[in-house]
Amino acid sequence: MSEIISIANQKGGVGKTTTAVNLAASLAEKGKKVLLLDIDPQSNATTSLGFSRGDYEFNIYHVLIGSKKLSEVLLETNIKNLQLAPSNIGLVGIEKEFYNPKKKNRELVLKEKLKEVSKKFDFIIIDSPPALGPITINALSASDSVIIPIQCEFFALEGLAQLLNTVSLLKKTINPKLKIKGFLPTMYSGQNNLSKQVLEDLSHHFKDKLFHMKKGKECIVVPRNVKIAESPSFGKPVTTYASTSKGSIAYRDLATVIVRG
Ligand code: ATP
Ligand code: MG
Repeated sequence: MSEIISIANQKGGVGKTTTAVNLAASLAEKGKKVLLLDIDPQSNATTSLGFSRGDYEFNIYHVLIGSKKLSEVLLETNIKNLQLAPSNIGLVGIEKEFYNPKKKNRELVLKEKLKEVSKKFDFIIIDSPPALGPITINALSASDSVIIPIQCEFFALEGLAQLLNTVSLLKKTINPKLKIKGFLPTMYSGQNNLSKQVLEDLSHHFKDKLFHMKKGKECIVVPRNVKIAESPSFGKPVTTYASTSKGSIAYRDLATVIVRG
């Protein structure tokens, strides 16, 4: 069975998509069979891997409404071992479907759909939208765990309590196995005192929930790195666009920790 990990934070622009794409690519690089599932109508994960609208007819929306099987929308990517379930702006329509109070088990639609492919992949990485609406709830309900990227900037921890409450509510109700895999500081800049402060705050509040390559060593931090920012426009993860960059190393380290379990 695959391990299913959501990348979530309702705050926008904190590095969710970047983390989903590059963690997925790094796991694939380690020989793991990986599905990257884009469940954000913005479709940034899909675009980051070089796909534009004309390249695929069906997407995760069609899976969620039941007109296609998940296996029918999967795309091969230019990374060995990595497949993509693409998204499209049309996915906004699913909010209406999921809000229909008559629809039973609407939080569990994605979980049901994932069953079809869960033997095929070692990992399923889900990139969720910047909202705590029905799409993210579906992602969290289908997942074994969640990674929460935290941008090392002002307001970094704002809204976090709400996300943590949602996770604990889901854990108590429909998804008891859901765990917080960890917090991932992103866009860290060593010259910036604010970055350092955010990291200190995180270490203070969530010491046991940061990722470490070695016990007692510094936690994994994704640096602000221009190669990371450039790579989506080349349709590649940073791990192939700039394989030896600091950004690549951080995401490879994260994958190492995830594989270790
Ligand atoms: P949204 O909430 O809109 O889905 P997001 O949380 O998925 O956003 P990203 O799209 O991953 O965030 O990142 C936001 C922007 O910051 C993007 O332009 C991305 O390329 C850039 N970015 C992310 N991480 C880094 C980094 N470590 N260094 C430099 N730029 C980064
Ligand atoms: Mg995103």
